[in-house]
Amino acid sequence: MNSDKKIIIAIDGYSSSGKSTMARHLAKTIGYRYIDSGAMYRAVTLAAMRAGLVSRDMAPSSEAIAAILPGLSIDFEVVADGQNTMLNGENVEKDIRSLEVSSCVSPVAAIPEVRHALVDMQRLMGESKGIVMDGRDIGTVVFPAAEMKVFCDASAEKRASRRYKELTEKGAQVTYNEVLENVRSRDYIDENRDESPLRCAQDAVRLDNSEMTIDEQNEWLMNLYNRIVNG
Ligand code: C5P
Repeated sequence: MNSDKKIIIAIDGYSSSGKSTMARHLAKTIGYRYIDSGAMYRAVTLAAMRAGLVSRDMAPSSEAIAAILPGLSIDFEVVADGQNTMLNGENVEKDIRSLEVSSCVSPVAAIPEVRHALVDMQRLMGESKGIVMDGRDIGTVVFPAAEMKVFCDASAEKRASRRYKELTEKGAQVTYNEVLENVRSRDYIDENRDESPLRCAQDAVRLDNSEMTIDEQNEWLMNLYNRIVNG
């Protein structure tokens, strides 16, 4: 395959396994569009929370959330230091990263109507290829024919401490144990839902990055991309 030919790159894995960091870096390096599919599930969750349809103490009702989907538009605005998630034209990038949204997102993402609507949008985004998308079901459901698939993992403790550092650096008031509990519970829900549960695609290359630095991860991914496009 020659490197002028655009491909689809699917990067899946567990919560906070470093997928987004390396997916974003690869996309920037090779001039591809980067799509954070988790941000789309987070945006739907934020809209449902604002509408009073889900909270930490209230499980979401599939019917009520399905009813608000047609009124939601989700997009990404590219800015100098990354991209902002836009919900009906509003920049919600900061709001969707809160621990409150993290606590409600996996039950919302398990609702079949939510998955169908977002998978349709994601497929449209990948129509002209030249895309790096990260998530839980990108290589298995969204783009099963993607030319490059990676599945990321790291220990739950390692992932929680990365996430804890990220959140506290941004000023969030959270404890390490809360973050660890959230990582474990999202893993459980993501792996055990009926609709497109988190699985490693048969043809994905697995990466355990527990002991890798960000630079090492980026280099590993770039090497894999070069092998795939240049043979
Ligand atoms: O990637 P991130 O951790 O931001 O995703 C938030 C949540 O959205 C995940 O915990 C998962 O429940 C859900 N998700 C999903 N399918 C995707 C991406 C994310 O179910 N493709």
